[in-house]
Amino acid sequence: MITSAPARCPHLPRCPAATAPGRGAARTVAAHPEQGWSLLCNGVVVFDDTGELLPGGRALPPRRVGWIPFRPADGPGEARRSTFAQAS
Ligand SMILES: [Zn+2]
Repeated sequence: MITSAPARCPHLPRCPAATAPGRGAARTVAAHPEQGWSLLCNGVVVFDDTGELLPGGRALPPRRVGWIPFRPADGPGEARRSTFAQAS
């Protein structure tokens, strides 16, 4: 039987859809660790580097693990405000 519907999750409760933020939590239906990718039941292909390929063909770049926009809490906003006030 051929269906034109995209990959459909057979699990209950349903796994996150391919467009959902938590799509990576869907179950793996085909794993190819030797090639570095896995197919999730929602049709998303997940790569070892955390990159993703969505069912529509849209590719998402890898998430930079450990890369967090870090702003040191070195001073209160007071200093920044006063600097801004002087500049303007
Ligand atoms: Zn599922």
